[in-house]
Order: sequence, then structure tokens, then C-alpha cells
Amino acid sequence: MSREPRTAIATVCLSGALEDKLPAAAAAGFDGVEIFEPDLVASPMPPGEVRLRCADLGLSIDLYQPFRDLDSTDPERFAANLRRAEHKFGVMEALGTDTVLVCSSVAPDAVADVDLLAEQLHALAERAAARGLRIAYEALAWGRHVNTYDRSWEAVRRADHPALGLCLDSFHILSRGSDPAAIADIPGDKLFFLQLADAPHLSMDVLQWSRHHRLFPGQGAFDLPGFLAPVLAAGYTGPLSLEVFNDVFRQADPARAAVDAHRSLLALAEATAARGEGADPVAEAAPELHGHAFVELSADESLAPVLAALGFARTGLHRTKPVERWEQGAARILVNRSGGPVAVAALAVESADPPAAARRATRLSAPVLPRERGPAEADLAAVTAPDGTALFFCRTGARAVEGADWTGDFVPTGETAADDGAGIGVTGIDHVGLAQPFDHFDEATLFYRTVLGLEPDATGEFAAPFGLVRSRAVVDAQRRVRLALTVSLLRRGEWAPGVSEPQYVALAVDDVLAAARAARAAGAPLLAIPDNYYADLDARLALSKDRLAAYRDLGVLHEETAGGAYLQVCTEVLGGRVFLALVQRVGDHDGYGWTDAPVRMAAHRRRRLARERVRA
Ligand code: MG
Repeated sequence: MSREPRTAIATVCLSGALEDKLPAAAAAGFDGVEIFEPDLVASPMPPGEVRLRCADLGLSIDLYQPFRDLDSTDPERFAANLRRAEHKFGVMEALGTDTVLVCSSVAPDAVADVDLLAEQLHALAERAAARGLRIAYEALAWGRHVNTYDRSWEAVRRADHPALGLCLDSFHILSRGSDPAAIADIPGDKLFFLQLADAPHLSMDVLQWSRHHRLFPGQGAFDLPGFLAPVLAAGYTGPLSLEVFNDVFRQADPARAAVDAHRSLLALAEATAARGEGADPVAEAAPELHGHAFVELSADESLAPVLAALGFARTGLHRTKPVERWEQGAARILVNRSGGPVAVAALAVESADPPAAARRATRLSAPVLPRERGPAEADLAAVTAPDGTALFFCRTGARAVEGADWTGDFVPTGETAADDGAGIGVTGIDHVGLAQPFDHFDEATLFYRTVLGLEPDATGEFAAPFGLVRSRAVVDAQRRVRLALTVSLLRRGEWAPGVSEPQYVALAVDDVLAAARAARAAGAPLLAIPDNYYADLDARLALSKDRLAAYRDLGVLHEETAGGAYLQVCTEVLGGRVFLALVQRVGDHDGYGWTDAPVRMAAHRRRRLARERVRA
């Protein structure tokens, strides 16, 4: 393979009509497309015009698909199927594509006998070859008789025709638990086409799984590098092509989904190259991360008193912008008073090499943030995450690295946080929690994984008061940068009195009880938790009476696992969607308090209603 793998995408991956999908694929950087027949049938463009449109956009048409139910035990029906194929060959000639995908039959008359099947495939290949075309035969995971790649290969091998080869589809192979290793033994010139899709582990009918839940590589649970490596080792030289059926992507803005899709292929090729197969198109590894540099909150005047009550000091004022720097321990929060509701506006990470991190992000099609949006004057490299959060790469204090240090933008106020943060003792930012827009959860996970080089950590699902929530954390290898991403499991309905897309900053403390006492004494608006929670906690954990009383008094939530515990107190929601949490990790607890999230969410709602009653 050349340094850049050729990339393609099936038009079925994207929302809209061909006239929406083709420019989206081209703009995202794809080299080619698979034309999905229903997209062509529904298009007013004749095939010849589609060919010209693709040529104008710089797209090759790498595959026409699918041709279904070719083989038949009924000779008359098989003859009719060959006639049908000849018609499609004419369409392919007009499109200017030479390869058609023929998938294994699901029909009751499908051929079980492999020799007869090979004979029929040979007959089709003979007709294709006469027109300079090729047949790529694919085993559907739910094919009647051919449903694994070794069976499709057996039929192709026996047919022994130069115009007949295989289409390998990672979903069909991995969803059945087949080992892809033996693909390396198939002659490379018989691998005509490769379709890539990821998927979450689900226990359901494989057809439904395939039609609704496929994902772009890196967004699901399949080992795609482990699949691609033997395909490349076999000598496959065609494009890396995506074929993803997904209910959300089918509704999403195709331009944006295409960028997400293209990023997934670059990351897959990079991961496969790391296993010694194929070329690395990114060619700039993610620099090591050393922690959260700062979190920037857009805010009104309600936030500063809460930060002060949590022991933060306002240590700097921006030279030219209405931005304040608040600090305690290693935790830094920028408060941006430019307007807008309270929200996480930016995340900044400490990077070993900010310019390299920015080059990598650009290579992975992360949108570069216009400079004037940044909180700092220093020319910090910044990109925009899928939910609109700005992402900065810094090296705080490293003046020698151009554009990496931001602290010089702030005039010191002379204030410093007391050593122990007035008894609160925040040591740093533990993690940031960001609820994602429903349509962009998988995109966001892939974005943070690839652009920042984070790894997937814990995943979970919990029953929140206003609907099920899915959660997925991404962390760096040293667990110094952690993001907890959440999303509603279903698109939110009309009745949704919960906070929409809540966000929080979890601040690390060593002693949550002491921290909560000091914070409350200083007037922090801590969230009250109902007695029923503590009765249940008592039943489950048999804590001492004193400890339980202190928890109840301060609103401490306690999630216990075999390895330790996650203790937290939360503030009320400040503005519309953001709260702060003081978090103590005990022992080896590595979670995010998701067990307690439903209780916390209900408490936040109760508090909000109470406040609204006061106002009314
Ligand atoms: Mg396929």
C-alpha cells in the first residue's frame, strides 16, 4: 500500500439523496464511493450523470451494490437472475464502475451444493468478464447456506474464474465470531473488495444488529485492526471502504458524518500500521498528556461566589478579555464573562508537544478553532470538539515552546488560594463530565480517542429519572486526563424536565467530609440528598453511625466497588447545566460515580423546582 490508503464510503452510510452524499464524501477527503443501488434508483440523475458528477468531485466509483439472490436450485429462476444481472452490468458501464457486489442468497431456493453454487458464480463471472467487469462475492452473516467467509471463499475457489473474487465485510465476519486470521492465506488477487464496519456488542438478531447498529471503525467493540491486518497481509490493494447502516447516521448532516467516517478510517489505518501491516496515514503519534491545564466556563456573575466558597482564589485577570483565572492546588478554572449561559466553553490539556498535537488534530480533520474565540492571547493550538467545546493544547509555564504557554496573558491579582484552599483542599481536576448531543455521541468518543490519543475506559448505562443514560469514559494512559461522556439512550422526548446536556467539573480532594464542611461553612450551595438514599446506603454498606450522619448532613454520595470507593458532594446546577463536584477516590476506585447519578439527578431536579417556586 502507498502511504495514503485509498478510502471509500458506501452511499448508504450517509443521510440524504445522492446529490447530498457525493459532495459530502468528496469534501471529507474520500477517494471513492460505493453506489448503493436504492440511492441510484431514487435519484433523478441517470447513471451517466452520476459518473460525471463523481468525476467532477474527484470521486471514483469503486463498487455497485448489492446484487441479491443470484443462485437458484430452479434453472429457470437462475436464468432470469442472469438476465437481471446483465441489466445491472449495463448500469455499471454507464456509471463507469467495474465491480459489483453479489451477496450470498437468503432465498428459499438458494443453492446449498457448493459445486453447483461455484458453477453458477462461474457462469455470472463469464458474462461479467465479457464486458470487462468483476464480481465480488460476499457472505452475508444471515445467508441461507453461505454465511461465513470460508464458505464464500470455497465457492469462489472452486469457481476459479479471474473475474470472480471475494468481498470481505468486517461486520459479517466479526458478528459471527469468525477468526479473521485465516484471511491472510487467501491469495490477495482474489480479495476484490473490503467493507469495514464496527458495532457494539449486542445480543440480538444479527440482521437487525447489522441494519441498525453498525458504527464507523473505532466506535464499537470489534477489533478492526485485528481484522484489517490479515486482509493487508494477504495482499489486498483495493480501497478501505466503509459500509455502515446506522439509524442515527442516516439522519445526521451528511457533511459532518462523512468527516467522522473519514477520521475513523485514518485512525484504523494508523492502528493497523502499529501492528505492522499497511501504512500510517496520520504519521504523528498523539503526544503524551500531563493533565488538565484548565477548564474554561462561560459564566454570569453567579459562578465566582461559588468558586470562592469552594476555596478558589481569583489569581489573574486577562489583559484584554473579560476572563478571570481562578486557582486552587493544580486546578485552574477560567471564568469567561463574555456572555452566554454557564457552560463548559473549553478544555485545555497539558501536552508534551502542543504543535505536534495540533498537527495530528488537523490531520484527523478536527476543525481548527478561529483564534479570536480563544480565552488566551497566547497562540494556543485549538480545535473544536463535536459538541462545540474548544480543545486547547498547552504546556503551562513552557515559555520556550511557541504558543504553548498561556499564563502570561493574565495580570496577577495578588490573590492566592490558601495552601489548603481554606480547608477544602482541592488538589486538581479529577475529570470533566460532558453530556453529548444525541446525534454526536459516537462521533465525540472517536474524536477524543483519536485526536487526543485517549483510550476507552469504563462504560455504563443507568436509569436516570428522565430516561436511560449511556456513559463512556475516555482516559490517557496515565489517567491524568479523564473525560466522562454521557448521552440519552433514546432521543429525548417532549417531556424532559431534566437538565438538558448537563456538564460538570469534578475537583479532586483528599477528604470529602472536611472539604464539604468547609465549603458549606463558606456558603457553597451544596446539593441535599434524600434520607432514603442513606437508609439504603446503611443497608448495603453498614457504615458507622457517625459517618452516615455526616454523609446525610453534607449530601455525600458514596459509590463502593471491590477496589475502593468514590465519594462526592455536588453543588446545585449553576445557571442552566453546569455543576461542580468535590470528589474523593478511595483505594483503587477508578469509576465516575455513575451508580449514584440517578439520585443526584433527581436531587438536582428537586432543587430546581424549589427555586422556581420561590421565584414564582
Ligand atoms: Mg457488505
